[in-house]
Amino acid sequence: MNWKDTPEQAAFRAEVREFIRARFPSAYRADTDMQQSLEPEDVYGYNWAADRRAADAQRREGAMAWASTLAERGWVAPHFPKEYGGAELGAIEDCILQEEMMRERVPSVSGIGVNLLGPTLLAFGTETQKLEHLPRIARGEVAWAQGFSEPGSGSDLASLKTRAVRDGEDYVVNGQKVWTSLAQYSEWAMLLVRTDPGAERPHRGISYLMVDLASPGVTVRPIEDLRGGTPFCEIFFEDVRVPAANRVGEENQGWRVAMATLGFERSGLGSVIRYQHALDRLIALMKSDESKRFLRTDARGALRQEIAQRQIEIRVLYNLALHSVSTKASGGVPGHEASISQLFGAELHQRLARTGMKAFGPWAQLTQGKDTPLEAMFTHDFLGAIAHPFLGGSSEVQRNVIATRGLGLPRS
Ligand SMILES: Cc1cc2nc3c(=O)[nH]c(=O)nc-3n(C[C@H](O)[C@H](O)[C@H](O)COP(=O)(O)OP(=O)(O)OC[C@H]3O[C@@H](n4cnc5c(N)ncnc54)[C@H](O)[C@@H]3O)c2cc1C
Repeated sequence: MNWKDTPEQAAFRAEVREFIRARFPSAYRADTDMQQSLEPEDVYGYNWAADRRAADAQRREGAMAWASTLAERGWVAPHFPKEYGGAELGAIEDCILQEEMMRERVPSVSGIGVNLLGPTLLAFGTETQKLEHLPRIARGEVAWAQGFSEPGSGSDLASLKTRAVRDGEDYVVNGQKVWTSLAQYSEWAMLLVRTDPGAERPHRGISYLMVDLASPGVTVRPIEDLRGGTPFCEIFFEDVRVPAANRVGEENQGWRVAMATLGFERSGLGSVIRYQHALDRLIALMKSDESKRFLRTDARGALRQEIAQRQIEIRVLYNLALHSVSTKASGGVPGHEASISQLFGAELHQRLARTGMKAFGPWAQLTQGKDTPLEAMFTHDFLGAIAHPFLGGSSEVQRNVIATRGLGLPRS
């Protein structure tokens, strides 16, 4: 493996950096109070889906202007074909774009629509579905939510109960989803529903629908997390009519489509850069005069050791992420390696947050206010990282995947 840029890749990296510096709307500023609603791959102080619906007009317009600016180059959805508004970037260039956006600390646009629904439609959608949805995603006009989990059906997703019954040209949907990230800011959701309750095996009776969240009978209720933010929601469906034309793949074949969607989860590169940024800020503070005010003096030696350890782990995660990218670039699919990356990344996030908490001692109890060290970044991360191992599959489930699919160990 050679992670060094080729001359073409280096030129592309420079082009991206220049583009961001010249074109990012200056009025669209980071709002550090918003840290509490962020997911691991987001840039501190931004949440594009929420920003474009913000009460503050400057923020709203900034988010929309940034989407249009990126869309000019096809960089909202860089991996989409040009005919659907993308830039047809390969896996490495896509990764360079993401890396530079994270380093310059500007938000990406359209999240789940770009990263999960888009590639799913490209693989399984009809031409009509692609033409209806992909260009709107690529222009940054619409946000999508992922409606898979239900109360009682998370790791055991195939047990889901939300029911869809065919009635003429529509399905009628009844049921509930939960933990749906950013659904309150999303126009559409992809939904797993049960269409054959009598199927011999539960995953054979599931279909995959695209649902307009403005449809009558849909209720989206934000859930507050332990930080006081509302990063996810419950969604209730009561006799919601969804055109059968919005089904992706065949009826009762939705499990295959859903597994493909989950396989399109990002490489984790964005989170590595975010962790490195957090650690760099801690290191800079340790070297500055401010350290006398905030840092525990009794723990400096141990802290030095811990910071060095976190630096090593961030490098390991960076290499794991690049390994996934290089597998994709050579036409492969990261299999259990994606589980290794996800598991290591989630647990590193927790260790890194704990290091920051330890460094600041009693100051780490403060979650808000100008007087907090590094705008309470590590405190917010400490609380946010608790949920990280659940985001893309729990740690135990990831270890099961590594053990059985990766190492070929017996299931019992
Ligand atoms: C911040 C956040 C955002 C999320 N966003 C979304 C979203 O946008 N859309 C969406 O659909 N879902 C979302 N989720 C839900 C997420 O996918 C689920 O939390 C996850 O699948 C785990 O399911 P569960 O919460 O029901 O826990 P459970 O599956 O009930 O697990 C509980 C515990 O049991 C363990 N366990 C379960 N099965 C096994 C097993 N076979 N072997 C060993 N241990 C096991 C788990 O490891 C865990 O410790 C989000 C979750 C979080 C925390």
